[in-house]
Amino acid sequence: MEFSYQDESERWLNDIIENHYEEARQRALSLIDGGHIRATGCIESETRDARRVRFRGKQLHAYRFIYCILNRCAASYDDVVRHRCNNRLCLNPEHLEIGTRGENLMDERDFAANGVVHDLL
Ligand SMILES: [Zn+2]
Repeated sequence: MEFSYQDESERWLNDIIENHYEEARQRALSLIDGGHIRATGCIESETRDARRVRFRGKQLHAYRFIYCILNRCAASYDDVVRHRCNNRLCLNPEHLEIGTRGENLMDERDFAANGVVHDLL
């Protein structure tokens, strides 16, 4: 018997990607549109901390929502959407990638040691 377990994050994203995709995509694009473009290419929200979004009964970070919707990626709780630019306010989908919690910690140490090289983005 085949059994594949999905956690609540995956189930919620799968439902949206399958049943509400266009609505979600418009929401993601309008979040990006509402941001401010910086010289680094980052698109920042005006919020003090990473912006959140409420969509279909769930509240989550806007950058996670944007990444998962635009990439049609049903991320689980263990999947962390990471900022390659190390700017948590950033909503630019090109600055986002998915990884594990462990990789995210390594990133933070790396950025602390070496800073961010924007040419690599
Ligand atoms: Zn950025």
